[in-house]
Amino acid sequence: MTKSLTVAKHRANLDQLETETAASIAIMQATYDELDPEEAASDVGAGEDEGGSEGDLTRFERDRLRARIAEENLFLEVIAAAKLRSKGKGWKNCTKCANPIGEPRLEALPATDLCVTCKADRANW
Ligand SMILES: [Zn+2]
Repeated sequence: MTKSLTVAKHRANLDQLETETAASIAIMQATYDELDPEEAASDVGAGEDEGGSEGDLTRFERDRLRARIAEENLFLEVIAAAKLRSKGKGWKNCTKCANPIGEPRLEALPATDLCVTCKADRANW
């Protein structure tokens, strides 16, 4: 039942993750481009008593998307780094403590370079 994680499988997982991440960036970017705060802002003016204009909402949504896109782009770099690591010998080991990351963890999170213990030590990513 437990099939050992081969480097080929690991790379395929990384490729898939990269494809999915790139696709979600494309979708968010398209949504971002469609949200034009100038246009939304010009729609209001008539309904001033609505509290919080549509332009504000659009701006808020754009900020949120921009932050998400930046995060996902960072994640793409993490994936690229993991792909590079997979060319070497230590791709199954934690980059911090050198202990095995663990195959279930690597399968679930192909881009990770830390074991659970070290990951818990690090506040974010
Ligand atoms: Zn570790």
